[in-house]
Amino acid sequence: MVAMTNSAAVLADAAAYAAAVEEASRAAAAYYATGESALDDEAYDRLARGIAAYEADHPDEVLADSPTGKVAGGAAVGDVPHTVPMLSLDNVFSAEQFGTWTASLERRIGRPVTAWSVEPKLDGLAVAARYRDGRFERLITRGDGQAGEDVSHAAAAVVGLPQRLSAPVTLEVRGEILMTNEQFEQGNAIRTEHGGAPFANPRNGAAGTLRAKDRAYRVETTFFAYGALPLPDSGALAQTLAELPHSEVLSYVAGLGVHTAAGTDVAPVLATTVEEVQARVDAIASLRAALPFGIDGIVIKADPAADQREAGSGTRAPRWAIAYKLPAVEKITRLLAVEWNVGRTGIIAPRAVLEPVEIDGSTVGYATLHNPADITRRDLRLGDQVMVYKAGDIIPRIEAPVVHLRTGEETPIAFPESCPQCGSDIDASEQRWRCVRGRSCRLVASVSYAAGRDQLDIEGLGTTRVVQLVEGGLVADFADLFTLERAQLLALDRMGETSTDNLLAAIGTARTRPLSRVFCALGVRGTGRSMSRRIARYFATMDRIVAADAETLQRVDGIGKEKAAAVVAELAELAPLIDKLVAAGVNMTEPGATPPPEPGTENEAGAADDGTNGAALPLTGMTVVVTGAMSGALEKLSRNQMNELIERAGGRASSSVSKRTSLLVAGEKAGSKRTKAEDLGVRVAEPEEFAELVGAFLGAGEES
Ligand SMILES: [Zn+2]
Repeated sequence: MVAMTNSAAVLADAAAYAAAVEEASRAAAAYYATGESALDDEAYDRLARGIAAYEADHPDEVLADSPTGKVAGGAAVGDVPHTVPMLSLDNVFSAEQFGTWTASLERRIGRPVTAWSVEPKLDGLAVAARYRDGRFERLITRGDGQAGEDVSHAAAAVVGLPQRLSAPVTLEVRGEILMTNEQFEQGNAIRTEHGGAPFANPRNGAAGTLRAKDRAYRVETTFFAYGALPLPDSGALAQTLAELPHSEVLSYVAGLGVHTAAGTDVAPVLATTVEEVQARVDAIASLRAALPFGIDGIVIKADPAADQREAGSGTRAPRWAIAYKLPAVEKITRLLAVEWNVGRTGIIAPRAVLEPVEIDGSTVGYATLHNPADITRRDLRLGDQVMVYKAGDIIPRIEAPVVHLRTGEETPIAFPESCPQCGSDIDASEQRWRCVRGRSCRLVASVSYAAGRDQLDIEGLGTTRVVQLVEGGLVADFADLFTLERAQLLALDRMGETSTDNLLAAIGTARTRPLSRVFCALGVRGTGRSMSRRIARYFATMDRIVAADAETLQRVDGIGKEKAAAVVAELAELAPLIDKLVAAGVNMTEPGATPPPEPGTENEAGAADDGTNGAALPLTGMTVVVTGAMSGALEKLSRNQMNELIERAGGRASSSVSKRTSLLVAGEKAGSKRTKAEDLGVRVAEPEEFAELVGAFLGAGEES
């Protein structure tokens, strides 16, 4: 499940070794001084492993400035001594290596470890925060582990690090300072506004922000505590902290008002066996891409205080904790070009073309860029070295340019002056640029989408036919399909009597599709198939959807404030098309759905949106994911039809397994989703078992 390459740079001779040591030291020094490095994490680790391998073969040639075995790669900064050294952690990369490590720890202490704390390894900077009598006193970076830099000036802008604790205690809290994804976006926006260069990634942003003094602007970071220890005058608390299991130290710190990872999706949990630890490691790894902050691994600690004490520490790392590293999800590569593509709704979206780079097991050649303002905000230029992030199934994104790697050869990114699809003007009044022709710009695409299998499902209306209809001037939007006449179709090339009649019959059937399909066919931005079903089930009729204001729309599961406003605006734009559809006799109601109560008559029952006036449905409150090939009664259902079935039965259909999943319907050839569900303890049902559960809803709702 969690796998990564731990390859090493191959160093052929003493000269290559010396050059590698110099490069690694320079990178470590730059990183620890400014948060910027010419090497991404994986490149640095590869170099460090090559150096270590060479030193193992040539122990008499080891250079004094080698980063091997040194905290922070030997980069020394700061002069505030740590009361207890701030060590690094050793790494493992697989379940097997983790098993070996636990066995050696248990051998050392002469008994099994009864509890392991499994925590996220946050991708930030380790710091120590000292409190005296409950008041914040000093914030110190890790530095070289023996002494760090005083960065107390930055503490006020660190979320989660209170100025006063809830009790007047004296202690040192240790943890990680990072930028959440949101803080990173905000921070870079503020920096570029002030003429500064953007940070390449959130970690560099946190490092740079912590060290910066006298900035004209404020950039926030977030603290996550991972431990606490007494200071010389802690008094009785020293004994308490020494005796508490690690997990209780974390609860104690949280109780003082300091932020910890508790309450996040990757909150620390206790595990009692190696298998349980591994299951939690896999679960955290699978949540990684969706987290609002970066993690680069999982930390596993022996929880009992006595175990930690007896295991002790080496010069570089404690023996009772280990970092289970996850594959790198960030790489530096070059931005080669920006493509401008016009979407179905006329939106002109930029896409970055990258020098292909391998990240998290796949080759990344493109990344999303959102909109022109996004490019300006990031100060991206063609030829830039950029930090690219890709984890799990997410679309790769550019974090920022690595500004200190600029050569001066970089050129500005040209924005289109007219629609790259049709040459019309561009409406640039909003962040997302749009062709002034809107949906008409990509008429063929939008009509084909409406006729598609998961929307109106008009058989015999492939792209070639749509092109004929559009070019022949017969169709200016998809409502025109419903008023096509037999003679018009017969006049088209390669259109015989039979295909004409078949197409007209298919269009006739399309007129009776449920509202969810008709709504989906409109192609309202931000509403795909499942959102369209939720909207249709909630409102039951098109009239009610169109009449809803942004506030009412937000009652639909998954619609936030921003999306609600966008949907309202878009529906206003689509009103003439909707009127045309109504006039053409297209169905505008959702079978089985009951409209919501009128405002003011609503009570706590409020369950009318499941379409049954509150009667319990077999999947009420459940989130269901389908994977693999369906069989038995479900064999002929497309994935979309399966999702419709789930929603008719009161559930919510989702495409990815998470800890919020209630049930996974797994057919034959179910792959990673099944494994993930089993790891997370999610209930798994065979198609036959599921068919029995929702049998009453099979075949209902489809008008065709
Ligand atoms: Zn256009």
